[in-house]
Amino acid sequence: MQTVKTVQKLREKIHHEKSQGKRIAFVPTMGNLHDGHIALVHKAKSLSDFVVTSIFVNPMQFGQNEDLDSYPRTLDADSDKLIAAGNNLLFTPTPEVIYPQGLERQTQVIVPFVTELHCGASRPGHFTGVSTVVNMLFNMVQPHVAVFGEKDYQQLAVIRKMVKDLQMPVEICGLPTQRADDGLALSSRNGYLSDHERKIAPTLYQTLQQSLQQLKNQTHTPETVAQEAISTLEAAGFLVDYFNIVDSETLQPATVSTKKTTILAAAFLGKTRLIDNISL
Ligand code: AMP
Repeated sequence: MQTVKTVQKLREKIHHEKSQGKRIAFVPTMGNLHDGHIALVHKAKSLSDFVVTSIFVNPMQFGQNEDLDSYPRTLDADSDKLIAAGNNLLFTPTPEVIYPQGLERQTQVIVPFVTELHCGASRPGHFTGVSTVVNMLFNMVQPHVAVFGEKDYQQLAVIRKMVKDLQMPVEICGLPTQRADDGLALSSRNGYLSDHERKIAPTLYQTLQQSLQQLKNQTHTPETVAQEAISTLEAAGFLVDYFNIVDSETLQPATVSTKKTTILAAAFLGKTRLIDNISL
């Protein structure tokens, strides 16, 4: 596996592979790789001849009081994991490479509608940071296919909408959330949890599963399902940001005519913000 830090080197390598007729898959990440990321790389391999992974902790998607500075950066361990997974090329740009004029002067990509609720409401500007950097990375890598995790369900919806609305020539593949044995969705932010918090953390997914069952059984209205879930999470020690039952496609609140339902949740355990989701 080769590692490149500049856009020029990245383009040279990919141009060489494409000139040999190879199909390119791309996996954008912020590093501190876990088995969820590695599952994306395996999927990318199955869909292509050459896999490019990027590691970039994108400052544009972090709010002022968020964890940009403390976000775990573990490049050596990440490289080893990517080599073991058979990744072909690793792109590790610095913020200066991605935003040479600084964040204030950077052209942005704003995706409306799907960004208004849920994490978009709690983290203003977050999804503009995501869509902007993913757009740029797509322009740099020019992959045939890009692989994302359903763990970040709203993010995947934002990317799909951006690609569709802007007629971007890339296929988007979503992969189910990879979980620890106790059900906790794997996340780079799980490392922030204390031992005590880590024991409580699986309650988030358990509550989502319970809520899904209640919706399936039609024993509760969506409102009472959400209220009960929030009470369960608060009793376990979470501070709930949102617990929303939505249309899986539009991410708007589910109604009686909704065909497919997803529950999106975000909750703090101490200082750590966890997100998860489940679909009917
Ligand atoms: P991140 O490094 O957290 O920005 O995530 C990079 C990519 O990995 C995104 O497409 C995420 O949705 C995906 N991802 C993160 N955690 C998981 C997980 N537990 N299972 C599957 N994909 C994941």
